[in-house]
Amino acid sequence: MSIDEVQTDTVGRALDDARARYADRRPRSAAQARAAARVLPAGSTRSVLDFAPFPFRVARASGAELVDVDGHRYLDLLGDYTAGLLGHDPPEVADAVRSVLDRGWSLGAVADGEHRLAELLCGRFPSIEQIRFTNSGTEANLMAINLARHLTGRSRVMVCDGAYHGGLLYFGTTGGPLQAPFDYVRVRYNDLDSVAEALAEHGDDVACLLVEPMMGAGGCLAGNPDFLAGLRRLCTDHGVLLIFDEVMTSRMSTGGAQLRLGITPDLTTLGKYLGGGMTFGAFGGSTEAMGAFDPARGGGLTHGGTFNNNSMTMTAGVAAVEQILTAEALDRLFADGETLRARIAPVLATAGMSTTGWGSLMGIHPVPGPVSGPADLIGADPRRVELLFHELLEREIYFAPRGFIALSLAVTPADHEHLVDSLTDAVETLLQRGALTS
Ligand code: PMP
Repeated sequence: MSIDEVQTDTVGRALDDARARYADRRPRSAAQARAAARVLPAGSTRSVLDFAPFPFRVARASGAELVDVDGHRYLDLLGDYTAGLLGHDPPEVADAVRSVLDRGWSLGAVADGEHRLAELLCGRFPSIEQIRFTNSGTEANLMAINLARHLTGRSRVMVCDGAYHGGLLYFGTTGGPLQAPFDYVRVRYNDLDSVAEALAEHGDDVACLLVEPMMGAGGCLAGNPDFLAGLRRLCTDHGVLLIFDEVMTSRMSTGGAQLRLGITPDLTTLGKYLGGGMTFGAFGGSTEAMGAFDPARGGGLTHGGTFNNNSMTMTAGVAAVEQILTAEALDRLFADGETLRARIAPVLATAGMSTTGWGSLMGIHPVPGPVSGPADLIGADPRRVELLFHELLEREIYFAPRGFIALSLAVTPADHEHLVDSLTDAVETLLQRGALTS
């Protein structure tokens, strides 16, 4: 057996032990998971929430805390994969939702909430003069792609290897069978030459380039500003519409990553927290481009969606944007995230691991780094990160098993200290046990 294989076995054994300890301490979650699996494939209805041996079941949540059905409390650093930016029970949103309960919902008619939320978001994002709401980020991206195809009269869609733009728009190594059946041209993130070459070859057929300013699910890999500015230039040169998927990165400022970067895409898609934590998605662009949905301006596109203007989301979104998501709050969150990431980086380095990210979003990687694109993670052993995940769960801290942290506004400076101390302790423990090596 090679030294590498011996080490792999050590990681595997340590993970088996960690999963067994986890299961022993959560008999109620285990029973609920078994029962749920009879009616829900894998016992849940959102694949990303599943992890071995079974995900704990939440009994209640408040601020940045989750409490499971076995009574374990967790500092929630997953923040619902960014949708939980506001924390679990912001009073401003609760009041707004209560006002909907008093006034009625499922209107099947137009109300003022959608107009007010549209005004607020159009006032924030430089690329968005007009906007339409959807029920999810996936749907927003599908709509934006089809809008681009309609406007350009071209059919192909350019995306980056490793990108995730929704359940039907995943460009990693798995998930292919459910991909929306567009004709894709794939390029490499943070590699402008790969984009220039692909556009030189296929540019006349490409309707849009769909890209995140920071690859979120791809591992929190920030776009190099030169790369993103280069994309803007190349898209203009080739008549390709640049779509920024800001479903995750919109939190980087009041005007998202685009405002922070000073780069204005043609279309932008939004999602997650901007509906106050209710189901949400949106896509927008110039008044001219969005005129495609306005029959009065000759637009021929219809945009369906029973819940596009659902009262809960519209009202909760207005409360969140007006009362919570101020420039000060978002700038502070961004700065706090940068500071925290700088603090955890040296801790991870002692175990041959690294972190990437931007502002309040960060990824933990099982390699020493630097990691600038998905290719840098090929061959890495994700179980090293899962081990750390379990060690931190034992210290009452929850983030994504794949090593993803999304800070919420409810996370406090004391929570940061708790993370740094717990991470240090966890890494030392795993090094001592020989489960991780430096
Ligand atoms: N785009 C990005 C960048 C995302 O991270 C996600 C969800 N994680 C989506 C789109 C899809 O959003 P939703 O889950 O609301 O469909």
